[in-house]
Amino acid sequence: MLQLEKVSLHYGGFKALHEVSLHANDGELVVLLGANGAGKSSIFLTASGLLKAAGGRIRLRGQDVAGAKPSRLVEEGLVLCPEGRKLFPGMSVLKNLMLGAYVHRRDRKGNAKLLDEVFDMFPILREKKDDAAGSLSGGQQQMVAIGRALMGRPKALLLDEPSLGLAPLVVKQVLEVIQRINRAGTTVLLAEQNAYAALQIAHRAYVLEGGRIVMEGSRDELLNNDAVRRAYIGA
Ligand code: ATP
Repeated sequence: MLQLEKVSLHYGGFKALHEVSLHANDGELVVLLGANGAGKSSIFLTASGLLKAAGGRIRLRGQDVAGAKPSRLVEEGLVLCPEGRKLFPGMSVLKNLMLGAYVHRRDRKGNAKLLDEVFDMFPILREKKDDAAGSLSGGQQQMVAIGRALMGRPKALLLDEPSLGLAPLVVKQVLEVIQRINRAGTTVLLAEQNAYAALQIAHRAYVLEGGRIVMEGSRDELLNNDAVRRAYIGA
């Protein structure tokens, strides 16, 4: 579904990604582990066309999309749910959600049906649809961010630290929702600081250090790896 092949990224003279290769197969839930500053967001921003790679290839369903505009990538089914949610706090929940459907704005009927599905997934958002997004709790705002991404009709969903700053119980709920989205057929690439909880729902995972992939494996391989346990799980 999504493949990065030797992707490099520079911020001026600083090399943030060094020939990163990773992929997510159709229907997979793939987790990206790494400390702060390892380069997780850089991978997402590059894959979704918001930053331009200094080298390498990015393929979406086999098609080379390096250099493609972000809006085209959304049309092709690659949708980013960014770190820090990036909602418009003064706008209503409904308007924030509908922004996710911008590239499909002509399909009003399709969007209405999808909005209903998002509200079924997050009933609290139906209740609060006219409230300012900024007035919601952190967990509810994350639901808006995920709902907005779903309104973009992702085939591949990139989730950058969706549980950041949330209480443990809410983290669990967010990860359950992500697993449900994946089981319904959406390919997911998920960056998470909560390594143990994220690996529970993953099929495979990569470990990123200093802008390089240093390890990859199945969920069980990573969960049972001593170095991963020491560095990311603390057990
Ligand atoms: P975090 O979880 O803290 O967001 P991350 O794994 O997502 O970390 P990135 O945000 O991708 O990491 O950052 C990778 C590296 O690139 C870091 O060293 C960071 O300081 C640097 N970096 C990120 N954005 C910029 C920028 N706009 N200009 C210069 N350096 C940057």
